[in-house]
Amino acid sequence: MYDYIIVGSGLYGAICAYELNKAGKKCLVLEKRPHIGGNVYTEEIEGINVHKYGAHIFHTSDKSIWQYINQFAEFNNYINCPVARYKNECYNLPFNMNTFTKLWPDVFTPEEAQKRIEEERKEGYVETPSNLEEQAINLVGKTIYEKLIKGYTEKQWGKPCTELPAFIIKRLPVRFIFDNNYFNDKYQGIPEGGYTKIIEKMLSGIEVKLNCDFFDDKEKWLKSAKKIIYTGAIDKFYDYVYGALEYRSVRFETEVLDTPNYQGNAVINYTAYDVPYTRIIEHKHFEFGKQEKTVISREYSSTWKLGDEPYYPVNDAKNAELYEKYKALSEKDANVVFGGRLGQYKYYDMHNIIKVALEQVEKELNG
Ligand code: FAD
Ligand code: UDP
Repeated sequence: MYDYIIVGSGLYGAICAYELNKAGKKCLVLEKRPHIGGNVYTEEIEGINVHKYGAHIFHTSDKSIWQYINQFAEFNNYINCPVARYKNECYNLPFNMNTFTKLWPDVFTPEEAQKRIEEERKEGYVETPSNLEEQAINLVGKTIYEKLIKGYTEKQWGKPCTELPAFIIKRLPVRFIFDNNYFNDKYQGIPEGGYTKIIEKMLSGIEVKLNCDFFDDKEKWLKSAKKIIYTGAIDKFYDYVYGALEYRSVRFETEVLDTPNYQGNAVINYTAYDVPYTRIIEHKHFEFGKQEKTVISREYSSTWKLGDEPYYPVNDAKNAELYEKYKALSEKDANVVFGGRLGQYKYYDMHNIIKVALEQVEKELNG
């Protein structure tokens, strides 16, 4: 009999397993993929750590979370400065003085940029924005919306901006300084040697079964542990009784190229709608790689359907309501904890995952 069976070896499951094992609990981790790590998994190709499930940049303003993750790896000083390519123009992100001076050749100072954006905002301003398009124009005006937001967002979410909720765009920073750092957080970096090493360290000495889907033997596993920590999709756990929650899925086309430097940056967003992918990642730049070859991944966003890998929960009102029904059901299952991005149907970044996983462990150990 195990104290805990942990379904999923992503960051949430691995932290729970590590902490519970350290506290003397007998743990078993089940993972349906052929490898550990969930979506932070990195794989070495041509000496380059490839982020197999999308670019992962660690960032947080919470010192205790930064210290926690630094136990498991040395982080480099990578700062995420994505570039947007719109047709044959390149712009710095997030929207800052570098972006504004390139967009408008007669703008040089913050005052001039503010004035210009103010004029552009006035054109399409609405008092209470009811969708993403209105919200974006209210924030930055028409030119930026049309060149840098509209196409990217519609590819990413598979819907016109007029049908998307306004809140998605609220978190895009707008700055009147020359600063291309995408995140506002105090701590940021990439673990040297890749994320998989972190998960390996967390799971060292803990029994892990790979290629093992919990649902192939659900009843057996439920009887084999005092408690289950489940990090898969919550709707799947209940066999979609209320219907499936909506997700966005992502597909990656990865290629090894015989050139040392393909695009000169780790992340380039393609913001025009007619380019089918949303971004190209050149993995070596996350670790300032000097290898002879390079590895790139084109990222395509797609509509999720039953059987696909779920990536992003779609946090709109309809899905929030459906999730609440599953959550109410899960509260009756006292011996199952639902955790992580899929278990809680929440858009968690890695630093959020560390926080909620540690809080859950604390609850498990000290009530
Ligand atoms: P997951 O990593 O999804 O792990 C769940 C695990 O459970 C998986 O390994 C899965 O195979 C396994 N599993 C599911 N069902 C079963 C089953 N039935 N049986 C057995 N195993 C099962 N965060 C950042 O902080 N910075 C970033 O730059 C960033 N970029 C991202 C880019 C993309 C494209 C995506 C999708 C996410 C990004 N994130 C980023 C978020 C980050 O990936 C998550 O916060 C983190 O991976 C969530 O960990 P998790 O353990 O909850 O889920
Ligand atoms: N976004 C955009 N243009 C860009 C990058 C982002 O319009 O070049 C918008 C888009 O709506 C996206 C949101 O900002 O859904 C959040 O993007 P971010 O890259 O921060 O999130 P991620 O997809 O990495 O979770």
